[in-house]
Amino acid sequence: MKLGAVRGHATIRRLLAQAAARDRLPPSLVLSGPDGVGKRQVAVGLAELLNCEAVPAAGDAGVPESCGACRTCRRIARGVHADVIVVAPGDTGTIKVESVRGVVEQAAFRPFEGRRRVVIVDDADRLVAEAQNALLKTLEEPPPGSVFLLVTHRPHLLLPTVRSRCPELRFGSLTTDEVVDVLVGECGVAAAVAPAAAAAADGSVARAIETGSDEYLQARESAAAALRALAGAPPAKRRLETGKELMGGRRPRSSAATEREGLARRLRALGTLFRDLQVVSARGDRAWLANADLADELEALSPAYDADRAGRGFETVDLAVGALMRNASPRVVVDWLTLRI
Ligand SMILES: [Zn+2]
Repeated sequence: MKLGAVRGHATIRRLLAQAAARDRLPPSLVLSGPDGVGKRQVAVGLAELLNCEAVPAAGDAGVPESCGACRTCRRIARGVHADVIVVAPGDTGTIKVESVRGVVEQAAFRPFEGRRRVVIVDDADRLVAEAQNALLKTLEEPPPGSVFLLVTHRPHLLLPTVRSRCPELRFGSLTTDEVVDVLVGECGVAAAVAPAAAAAADGSVARAIETGSDEYLQARESAAAALRALAGAPPAKRRLETGKELMGGRRPRSSAATEREGLARRLRALGTLFRDLQVVSARGDRAWLANADLADELEALSPAYDADRAGRGFETVDLAVGALMRNASPRVVVDWLTLRI
């Protein structure tokens, strides 16, 4: 994909394109930021720009741009160009030292068919420590003609020695409109349901795609059930029981990580319902609802959740998801949440 065709991140894309055009690109970079916002697409777009056979043309606002049509651009986009190497976690979920050694050896030679060799390490935080150490020397003295791009949404898991050698470009979340654009334009999601998926996705396309899944719809149903149960502001005991249901009941075989993910999904769904309840209580247009298909149910719940309560609910959910991501106990988070809503 051409760098200019990636949604969002305009400043980062411009910075990279201009540095590439002036031959001032650092030989190794960390591309960090939320999961599913297009970091890897930017890395591939940069690889195209560095190797495009057409003299990179000035795109919008004079930013150099690959043609996207020459043989090289097409091969890079298809992932079959010999000089654009993508290293990603294997079946074990980690990137082993052997994969890194192979790449390091290859990088010592001049590019085979392109001008620059680009090594993209995807999910670079999955590099085992030994693999990171094997990369160190190459990151320190990269072979001429090679660029290393470490893509990660968890840069803190990289060794400090690795981070200290690579300037870091921090990507932000996409706007809801940008996520809708990607969903409709690239993922074949119907325009009617894309806004709901995007609204629940916190600026991540990966999460928005998940939002269209049955798993998400089930999570939303649990969240809606919790709202119904809590509508009449029941006593603490009943609230804590509702919390238990929100935890997803007992699933003896699920791991702690799966349990945490499931709860986070239900809480994010709950957040979008609260946001919608604010819209309903403000007599907003139904077109603004993220969960437009639940409009009648939201209407029925809205006397119990006025703008104040819905607003407080949204903030509470936001804090709860944050705590969950920082490894707080799911049980404690849910109890706190149900007592506050
Ligand atoms: Zn080209």
